[in-house]
Amino acid sequence: MKLLLVEDEALLRHHLSTRFGEAGHVVDAVDSAEEGLFQAQHFNHDIAIIDLGLPGMGGLDLIRQLRSMGRAFPILILTARGNWQDKVEGLTSGADDYVVKPFQFEELEARLNALVRRSSGFVQAQIRTGELVLDLNRKQASVAGQPVPLTAFEYRILEYLMRHHQQVVAKERLIEQLYPDDEERDPNVIEVLVGRLRRKLEAAGEPQLIDTVRGQGYLFTGHCQ
Ligand code: CA
Repeated sequence: MKLLLVEDEALLRHHLSTRFGEAGHVVDAVDSAEEGLFQAQHFNHDIAIIDLGLPGMGGLDLIRQLRSMGRAFPILILTARGNWQDKVEGLTSGADDYVVKPFQFEELEARLNALVRRSSGFVQAQIRTGELVLDLNRKQASVAGQPVPLTAFEYRILEYLMRHHQQVVAKERLIEQLYPDDEERDPNVIEVLVGRLRRKLEAAGEPQLIDTVRGQGYLFTGHCQ
């Protein structure tokens, strides 16, 4: 998924970007609320992690602005301050959860995954339709219990389409799931990846789950739960 990280401590920002990148996420990491606002205006993120103590505009103001812009993605706040007023104010301003520094990466990741899962309406750590099951923790797909050998990119596309099942997903959205905004983007890559994904699902016994909607994008036709 695509993650917006707003953190002014360079070392922590770098560390979190690296770890989330390794975990298969696309991270837009910025060091100020102003830059975070810009990113959120131009890209579609699945979740934001926002440090409260930022130079210039503060994290709380950023959260309020994001919510007033209609951005509904889950927001997790990071705060060095342990007092309860900060947490209450953060949650009141529109954040969904918080982690107090210092923290273990694993705790942050677990909270983040839980937030994203809930926001896309899935309570379990897996998404299924018919015989196709996506294991969100292990990042694996299987059909009737047999693993489907997907590359990391193919998996990310499948997960995004299944999270947004019954909706037309624009190619541009899928590209954002694969590359940070500063990397070169080639829409043809998506066509190739979706083609491969279809063939692999078909070989595993699940054909015709992904429709092409001409000029608009792709539609995952299975009912996921
Ligand atoms: Ca800070």
